[in-house]
Amino acid sequence: MAQSVKLNFSAPRRGLPPKHFADLSHDERVAKLAELGLPKFRAKQLAQHYYVHYTNNVEDMTDVPASARQDIQDALFPELMTPIKHSGTDDGETTKSLWRLHDGTLLESVLMRYPGRATLCISSQAGCGMACPFCATGQGGLDRNLSTAEIVEQVRNAAKEMAAEGGRLSNIVFMGMGEPLANYKRVVQAVRQITAPAPFGFGMSMRNVTVSTVGVAPAIRKLADEDLSCTLAVSLHTPDDELRDTLVPINNRWSVEEVLDAARYYVDKTSRRVSIEYALIRDKNDQDFRADMLGRKLHQALGSKVHVNVIPLNPTPGSEWDAAPKARQDEFVRRVQAQGVPCTVRDTKGQEIAAACGQLAAEERDEDSGDAKEPAGV
Ligand code: SAH
Repeated sequence: MAQSVKLNFSAPRRGLPPKHFADLSHDERVAKLAELGLPKFRAKQLAQHYYVHYTNNVEDMTDVPASARQDIQDALFPELMTPIKHSGTDDGETTKSLWRLHDGTLLESVLMRYPGRATLCISSQAGCGMACPFCATGQGGLDRNLSTAEIVEQVRNAAKEMAAEGGRLSNIVFMGMGEPLANYKRVVQAVRQITAPAPFGFGMSMRNVTVSTVGVAPAIRKLADEDLSCTLAVSLHTPDDELRDTLVPINNRWSVEEVLDAARYYVDKTSRRVSIEYALIRDKNDQDFRADMLGRKLHQALGSKVHVNVIPLNPTPGSEWDAAPKARQDEFVRRVQAQGVPCTVRDTKGQEIAAACGQLAAEERDEDSGDAKEPAGV
Protein backbone atom coordinates (compact mmCIF):
# COMPACT_ATOMS: atom_id res chain seq x y z
CA MET A 1 0.00 0.00 0.00
CA ALA A 2 1.16 3.47 -0.81
CA GLN A 3 1.14 4.66 2.80
CA SER A 4 3.49 1.89 3.84
CA VAL A 5 5.99 2.62 1.07
CA LYS A 6 9.05 4.21 2.51
CA LEU A 7 10.35 7.06 0.42
CA ASN A 8 14.02 7.56 0.75
CA PHE A 9 15.25 11.12 0.85
CA SER A 10 17.84 10.43 3.47
CA ALA A 11 21.58 10.81 3.18
CA PRO A 12 23.42 8.25 1.10
CA ARG A 13 24.52 5.13 2.89
CA ARG A 14 28.01 5.33 1.57
CA GLY A 15 30.49 8.07 0.83
CA LEU A 16 30.93 9.98 -2.36
CA PRO A 17 34.02 9.38 -4.51
CA PRO A 18 37.26 11.39 -4.36
CA LYS A 19 36.96 14.99 -5.55
CA HIS A 20 37.33 15.38 -9.28
CA PHE A 21 37.92 18.36 -11.56
CA ALA A 22 34.19 18.42 -12.40
CA ASP A 23 33.27 18.73 -8.69
CA LEU A 24 35.20 21.97 -8.33
CA SER A 25 34.51 25.60 -9.17
CA HIS A 26 37.10 27.49 -11.20
CA ASP A 27 38.51 29.07 -8.03
CA GLU A 28 38.75 25.70 -6.31
CA ARG A 29 40.61 24.31 -9.33
CA VAL A 30 43.03 27.22 -9.20
CA ALA A 31 43.59 26.59 -5.48
CA LYS A 32 44.25 22.87 -6.07
CA LEU A 33 46.75 23.73 -8.79
CA ALA A 34 48.44 26.22 -6.48
CA GLU A 35 48.90 23.41 -3.94
CA LEU A 36 50.78 21.56 -6.66
CA GLY A 37 52.87 24.68 -7.36
CA LEU A 38 51.15 25.26 -10.70
CA PRO A 39 49.98 28.59 -12.14
CA LYS A 40 46.40 29.72 -12.48
CA PHE A 41 46.25 29.56 -16.29
CA ARG A 42 46.51 25.77 -16.13
CA ALA A 43 42.91 25.64 -14.85
CA LYS A 44 41.59 26.99 -18.14
CA GLN A 45 43.92 24.75 -20.09
CA LEU A 46 42.65 21.66 -18.25
CA ALA A 47 39.05 22.76 -18.79
CA GLN A 48 39.75 23.02 -22.51
CA HIS A 49 41.02 19.43 -22.55
CA TYR A 50 38.16 18.14 -20.45
CA TYR A 51 35.11 19.92 -21.91
CA VAL A 52 36.28 20.49 -25.48
CA HIS A 53 38.44 17.44 -26.21
CA TYR A 54 36.61 15.19 -23.74
CA THR A 55 39.78 13.84 -22.18
CA ASN A 56 40.56 13.15 -18.54
CA ASN A 57 43.86 11.47 -19.28
CA VAL A 58 46.56 13.98 -18.42
CA GLU A 59 49.11 12.01 -20.45
CA ASP A 60 47.21 13.12 -23.55
CA MET A 61 47.45 16.79 -22.56
CA THR A 62 50.71 17.46 -24.32
CA ASP A 63 50.82 21.16 -23.49
CA VAL A 64 50.92 20.29 -19.76
CA PRO A 65 54.52 19.85 -18.54
CA ALA A 66 55.38 16.14 -18.37
CA SER A 67 56.77 16.57 -14.85
CA ALA A 68 53.39 17.79 -13.53
CA ARG A 69 51.10 15.33 -15.27
CA GLN A 70 51.03 12.60 -12.66
CA ASP A 71 50.35 15.09 -9.86
CA ILE A 72 47.49 16.62 -11.81
CA GLN A 73 46.07 13.21 -12.67
CA ASP A 74 46.08 12.17 -9.00
CA ALA A 75 44.79 15.44 -7.60
CA LEU A 76 42.17 16.35 -10.20
CA PHE A 77 41.33 13.42 -12.41
CA PRO A 78 40.92 10.29 -10.28
CA GLU A 79 39.30 7.44 -12.23
CA LEU A 80 35.63 7.62 -11.17
CA MET A 81 34.03 5.04 -13.42
CA THR A 82 35.28 1.91 -15.10
CA PRO A 83 33.38 0.53 -18.08
CA ILE A 84 32.04 -2.96 -17.35
CA LYS A 85 29.83 -3.62 -20.31
CA HIS A 86 28.64 -1.96 -23.49
CA SER A 87 25.54 -3.35 -25.21
CA GLY A 88 23.78 -2.19 -28.34
CA THR A 89 20.49 -2.56 -30.20
CA ASP A 90 18.53 -0.85 -33.02
CA ASP A 91 21.50 -1.59 -35.33
CA GLY A 92 23.86 0.07 -32.92
CA GLU A 93 21.78 3.25 -32.72
CA THR A 94 21.05 2.66 -29.04
CA THR A 95 23.87 1.70 -26.70
CA LYS A 96 23.80 1.11 -22.98
CA SER A 97 26.91 1.44 -20.84
CA LEU A 98 27.33 -0.22 -17.48
CA TRP A 99 29.94 1.39 -15.23
CA ARG A 100 31.46 0.43 -11.92
CA LEU A 101 32.07 3.32 -9.54
CA HIS A 102 34.90 3.64 -7.02
CA ASP A 103 33.01 1.82 -4.26
CA GLY A 104 31.64 -0.96 -6.45
CA THR A 105 28.29 0.77 -7.08
CA LEU A 106 26.95 0.08 -10.57
CA LEU A 107 25.55 2.70 -12.88
CA GLU A 108 23.93 2.76 -16.31
CA SER A 109 23.58 5.36 -19.04
CA VAL A 110 21.96 5.05 -22.47
CA LEU A 111 22.97 6.79 -25.71
CA MET A 112 20.37 7.08 -28.49
CA ARG A 113 21.31 8.21 -31.98
CA TYR A 114 18.68 9.80 -34.22
CA PRO A 115 19.07 11.54 -37.57
CA GLY A 116 20.60 14.90 -36.76
CA ARG A 117 20.79 14.51 -32.99
CA ALA A 118 21.99 12.22 -30.24
CA THR A 119 20.43 11.98 -26.80
CA LEU A 120 22.09 10.67 -23.68
CA CYS A 121 19.91 9.40 -20.87
CA ILE A 122 21.87 9.83 -17.64
CA SER A 123 21.53 8.75 -14.05
CA SER A 124 21.54 11.13 -11.10
CA GLN A 125 21.54 8.52 -8.34
CA ALA A 126 22.64 4.92 -8.06
CA GLY A 127 19.27 3.24 -7.59
CA CYS A 128 16.24 5.31 -6.59
CA GLY A 129 14.28 5.89 -3.40
CA MET A 130 10.98 6.89 -5.00
CA ALA A 131 9.57 3.34 -5.16
CA CYS A 132 7.31 3.71 -8.22
CA PRO A 133 5.99 0.16 -8.62
CA PHE A 134 6.23 0.04 -12.44
CA CYS A 135 9.88 1.09 -12.58
CA ALA A 136 12.70 -1.45 -12.24
CA THR A 137 15.07 1.10 -10.69
CA GLY A 138 12.49 1.90 -8.02
CA GLN A 139 12.32 -1.72 -6.94
CA GLY A 140 15.95 -1.88 -5.84
CA GLY A 141 15.84 1.18 -3.58
CA LEU A 142 18.37 3.96 -3.30
CA ASP A 143 22.01 3.00 -3.19
CA ARG A 144 23.49 6.49 -3.03
CA ASN A 145 23.58 9.89 -4.63
CA LEU A 146 26.02 10.41 -7.46
CA SER A 147 28.61 13.13 -7.15
CA THR A 148 28.54 16.01 -9.63
CA ALA A 149 31.56 14.56 -11.42
CA GLU A 150 29.96 11.12 -11.68
CA ILE A 151 27.05 12.79 -13.50
CA VAL A 152 29.32 14.93 -15.68
CA GLU A 153 31.57 11.97 -16.50
CA GLN A 154 28.60 10.16 -18.08
CA VAL A 155 28.23 13.16 -20.39
CA ARG A 156 31.92 13.43 -21.19
CA ASN A 157 32.18 9.75 -22.09
CA ALA A 158 29.17 9.91 -24.41
CA ALA A 159 30.35 13.16 -26.00
CA LYS A 160 33.67 11.47 -26.68
CA GLU A 161 31.95 8.43 -28.13
CA MET A 162 29.83 10.57 -30.44
CA ALA A 163 32.82 12.65 -31.55
CA ALA A 164 34.71 9.44 -32.40
CA GLU A 165 31.77 8.44 -34.59
CA GLY A 166 31.87 11.79 -36.35
CA GLY A 167 28.66 12.93 -34.65
CA ARG A 168 27.84 15.24 -31.76
CA LEU A 169 26.04 14.72 -28.49
CA SER A 170 23.19 17.23 -28.60
CA ASN A 171 20.64 16.32 -25.90
CA ILE A 172 20.73 15.21 -22.29
CA VAL A 173 17.79 13.74 -20.39
CA PHE A 174 17.93 13.03 -16.65
CA MET A 175 15.74 10.00 -17.15
CA GLY A 176 18.12 7.26 -16.15
CA MET A 177 18.41 5.91 -12.64
CA GLY A 178 17.38 8.10 -9.74
CA GLU A 179 15.31 11.14 -8.88
CA PRO A 180 17.33 14.18 -9.97
CA LEU A 181 15.58 16.59 -7.62
CA ALA A 182 16.45 14.37 -4.64
CA ASN A 183 20.12 15.02 -5.49
CA TYR A 184 19.39 18.65 -6.20
CA LYS A 185 22.64 20.51 -5.65
CA ARG A 186 24.78 18.13 -7.66
CA VAL A 187 22.31 17.89 -10.50
CA VAL A 188 22.15 21.69 -10.80
CA GLN A 189 25.97 21.88 -10.76
CA ALA A 190 26.05 19.25 -13.51
CA VAL A 191 23.46 21.12 -15.61
CA ARG A 192 25.61 24.25 -15.34
CA GLN A 193 28.66 22.38 -16.66
CA ILE A 194 26.69 20.70 -19.43
CA THR A 195 25.44 24.06 -20.68
CA ALA A 196 28.29 26.48 -19.88
CA PRO A 197 30.09 27.67 -23.01
CA ALA A 198 33.47 26.17 -23.83
CA PRO A 199 36.00 25.93 -22.36
CA PHE A 200 34.21 25.88 -19.00
CA GLY A 201 31.45 23.54 -20.04
CA PHE A 202 30.22 21.34 -22.88
CA GLY A 203 28.28 24.26 -24.39
CA MET A 204 25.06 22.35 -24.94
CA SER A 205 21.82 24.24 -25.35
CA MET A 206 19.70 24.68 -22.18
CA ARG A 207 16.57 23.67 -24.02
CA ASN A 208 18.22 20.39 -24.96
CA VAL A 209 18.72 19.42 -21.32
CA THR A 210 15.70 17.84 -19.65
CA VAL A 211 15.38 17.27 -15.92
CA SER A 212 12.67 14.68 -15.24
CA THR A 213 11.07 14.48 -11.81
CA VAL A 214 8.45 12.45 -9.94
CA GLY A 215 7.12 15.81 -8.73
CA VAL A 216 9.10 17.10 -5.78
CA ALA A 217 7.09 20.33 -5.74
CA PRO A 218 9.37 22.54 -3.58
CA ALA A 219 12.42 21.48 -5.60
CA ILE A 220 10.63 22.32 -8.87
CA ARG A 221 10.07 25.84 -7.51
CA LYS A 222 13.67 26.08 -6.40
CA LEU A 223 14.83 24.98 -9.85
CA ALA A 224 12.62 27.66 -11.40
CA ASP A 225 14.45 30.26 -9.29
CA GLU A 226 17.90 29.23 -10.57
CA ASP A 227 19.13 31.13 -13.60
CA LEU A 228 18.63 28.03 -15.70
CA SER A 229 16.05 27.35 -18.37
CA CYS A 230 16.39 23.65 -18.90
CA THR A 231 13.35 21.65 -19.90
CA LEU A 232 11.30 20.29 -17.02
CA ALA A 233 9.57 16.94 -17.37
CA VAL A 234 7.06 15.85 -14.74
CA SER A 235 6.22 12.16 -14.42
CA LEU A 236 2.52 12.50 -13.75
CA HIS A 237 1.20 9.14 -15.00
CA THR A 238 -2.35 9.88 -13.86
CA PRO A 239 -4.32 13.07 -13.17
CA ASP A 240 -6.05 11.88 -9.96
CA ASP A 241 -4.58 11.59 -6.48
CA GLU A 242 -6.27 8.32 -5.71
CA LEU A 243 -4.37 6.33 -8.32
CA ARG A 244 -1.26 8.50 -8.24
CA ASP A 245 -0.81 7.80 -4.51
CA THR A 246 -0.01 4.22 -5.50
CA LEU A 247 1.67 4.73 -8.91
CA VAL A 248 3.99 7.51 -7.77
CA PRO A 249 4.13 7.17 -3.98
CA ILE A 250 5.60 10.62 -3.44
CA ASN A 251 2.14 11.89 -4.37
CA ASN A 252 1.24 11.19 -0.74
CA ARG A 253 3.52 14.10 0.10
CA TRP A 254 2.86 16.42 -2.87
CA SER A 255 -0.47 16.00 -4.61
CA VAL A 256 -1.28 16.39 -8.31
CA GLU A 257 -2.51 19.92 -7.65
CA GLU A 258 0.65 20.92 -5.80
CA VAL A 259 2.81 19.44 -8.54
CA LEU A 260 0.90 21.24 -11.30
CA ASP A 261 1.06 24.51 -9.32
CA ALA A 262 4.82 24.11 -9.09
CA ALA A 263 4.99 23.31 -12.83
CA ARG A 264 2.99 26.51 -13.50
CA TYR A 265 5.53 28.43 -11.44
CA TYR A 266 8.30 26.89 -13.55
CA VAL A 267 6.55 28.00 -16.74
CA ASP A 268 6.04 31.53 -15.40
CA LYS A 269 9.67 31.86 -14.40
CA THR A 270 11.32 30.27 -17.42
CA SER A 271 8.73 30.61 -20.22
CA ARG A 272 9.56 27.02 -21.07
CA ARG A 273 6.96 24.47 -21.97
CA VAL A 274 6.73 21.63 -19.45
CA SER A 275 6.70 17.99 -20.57
CA ILE A 276 4.29 15.67 -18.82
CA GLU A 277 5.36 12.01 -18.85
CA TYR A 278 2.60 9.44 -18.87
CA ALA A 279 3.53 5.74 -18.87
CA LEU A 280 0.39 4.15 -20.27
CA ILE A 281 -0.52 0.97 -18.39
CA ARG A 282 -3.26 -1.37 -19.56
CA ASP A 283 -6.41 -1.15 -17.40
CA LYS A 284 -4.58 0.98 -14.86
CA ASN A 285 -4.36 4.56 -16.08
CA ASP A 286 -5.51 4.23 -19.71
CA GLN A 287 -9.28 4.94 -19.38
CA ASP A 288 -11.17 7.57 -21.35
CA PHE A 289 -12.15 9.47 -18.20
CA ARG A 290 -8.50 9.76 -17.19
CA ALA A 291 -7.52 11.05 -20.64
CA ASP A 292 -10.28 13.68 -20.42
CA MET A 293 -9.34 14.64 -16.87
CA LEU A 294 -5.65 14.84 -17.80
CA GLY A 295 -6.33 17.13 -20.74
CA ARG A 296 -8.64 19.31 -18.69
CA LYS A 297 -6.36 19.69 -15.68
CA LEU A 298 -3.29 20.37 -17.78
CA HIS A 299 -5.04 22.92 -19.94
CA GLN A 300 -6.31 24.66 -16.85
CA ALA A 301 -2.98 24.66 -15.02
CA LEU A 302 -0.54 25.20 -17.87
CA GLY A 303 -2.46 26.56 -20.85
CA SER A 304 -0.42 26.17 -24.00
CA LYS A 305 2.83 25.64 -22.10
CA VAL A 306 2.58 21.87 -21.88
CA HIS A 307 3.19 18.78 -23.94
CA VAL A 308 2.23 15.23 -22.97
CA ASN A 309 4.57 12.36 -23.78
CA VAL A 310 2.79 9.05 -23.63
CA ILE A 311 5.26 6.23 -22.99
CA PRO A 312 3.95 2.73 -23.68
CA LEU A 313 4.83 0.88 -20.47
CA ASN A 314 8.10 -1.03 -20.78
CA PRO A 315 8.01 -4.42 -19.15
CA THR A 316 10.03 -4.89 -15.97
CA PRO A 317 10.99 -8.17 -14.29
CA GLY A 318 8.32 -9.64 -12.04
CA SER A 319 5.61 -7.15 -12.96
CA GLU A 320 2.29 -8.28 -14.40
CA TRP A 321 1.63 -4.79 -15.78
CA ASP A 322 1.64 -4.26 -19.46
CA ALA A 323 1.41 -1.51 -22.07
CA ALA A 324 -2.07 -0.49 -23.21
CA PRO A 325 -3.18 -1.93 -26.56
CA LYS A 326 -2.49 0.27 -29.60
CA ALA A 327 -6.17 1.18 -30.16
CA ARG A 328 -6.53 2.25 -26.51
CA GLN A 329 -3.37 4.29 -26.75
CA ASP A 330 -4.60 6.05 -29.90
CA GLU A 331 -7.92 6.91 -28.28
CA PHE A 332 -6.16 8.15 -25.13
CA VAL A 333 -3.95 10.46 -27.17
CA ARG A 334 -6.90 11.70 -29.22
CA ARG A 335 -8.86 12.60 -26.08
CA VAL A 336 -6.00 14.52 -24.51
CA GLN A 337 -5.51 16.43 -27.76
CA ALA A 338 -9.23 17.18 -27.87
CA GLN A 339 -8.76 19.23 -24.68
CA GLY A 340 -6.29 21.42 -26.55
CA VAL A 341 -3.19 19.78 -25.11
CA PRO A 342 -0.47 18.56 -27.50
CA CYS A 343 0.12 14.87 -26.89
CA THR A 344 2.42 12.42 -28.69
CA VAL A 345 3.62 8.88 -28.12
CA ARG A 346 7.26 8.60 -27.28
CA ASP A 347 9.24 6.33 -29.55
CA THR A 348 10.71 3.75 -27.18
CA LYS A 349 14.21 2.56 -27.75
CA GLY A 350 16.40 0.00 -26.14
CA GLN A 351 13.81 -2.46 -24.78
CA GLU A 352 15.83 -5.42 -26.04
CA ILE A 353 18.78 -4.50 -23.87
CA ALA A 354 16.69 -3.36 -20.88
CA ALA A 355 17.74 0.20 -21.61
CA ALA A 356 14.29 1.74 -22.02
CA CYS A 357 12.56 4.03 -19.48
CA GLY A 358 12.17 2.31 -16.15
CA GLN A 359 14.29 -0.69 -17.08
CA LEU A 360 17.63 0.44 -15.69
CA ALA A 361 18.51 -1.77 -12.78
CA ALA A 362 22.28 -1.98 -13.18
CA GLU A 363 22.41 -5.69 -12.76
CA GLU A 364 25.65 -7.19 -13.80
CA ARG A 365 24.95 -10.42 -15.56
CA ASP A 366 27.50 -13.13 -15.44
CA GLU A 367 27.22 -14.41 -18.99
CA ASP A 368 28.52 -17.89 -18.09
CA SER A 369 26.39 -18.72 -15.09
CA GLY A 370 23.42 -16.54 -15.98
CA ASP A 371 23.46 -15.20 -12.41
CA ALA A 372 22.21 -11.70 -11.92
CA LYS A 373 24.27 -10.13 -9.19
CA GLU A 374 22.80 -7.47 -6.97
CA PRO A 375 24.49 -4.14 -7.28
CA ALA A 376 27.07 -3.96 -4.49
CA GLY A 377 25.74 -2.73 -1.18
CA VAL A 378 22.05 -3.05 -1.95
N1 SAH B 1 12.87 9.86 -11.35
C1 SAH B 1 12.68 10.63 -12.53
C2 SAH B 1 13.53 10.22 -13.71
C3 SAH B 1 13.69 8.75 -14.02
S1 SAH B 1 12.51 7.84 -14.88
C4 SAH B 1 11.20 10.61 -12.93
O1 SAH B 1 10.46 9.85 -12.38
O2 SAH B 1 10.81 11.42 -13.77
C5 SAH B 1 12.24 8.51 -16.45
C6 SAH B 1 10.81 8.29 -16.93
O3 SAH B 1 10.54 6.90 -17.20
C7 SAH B 1 9.80 8.70 -15.89
O4 SAH B 1 8.75 9.40 -16.49
C8 SAH B 1 9.32 7.36 -15.37
O5 SAH B 1 8.11 7.43 -14.74
C9 SAH B 1 9.31 6.54 -16.64
N2 SAH B 1 9.22 5.09 -16.40
C10 SAH B 1 9.63 4.42 -15.33
N3 SAH B 1 9.38 3.10 -15.46
C11 SAH B 1 8.81 2.94 -16.67
C12 SAH B 1 8.35 1.81 -17.40
N4 SAH B 1 8.43 0.59 -16.89
N5 SAH B 1 7.83 2.02 -18.62
C13 SAH B 1 7.76 3.27 -19.14
N6 SAH B 1 8.19 4.36 -18.51
C14 SAH B 1 8.71 4.22 -17.29
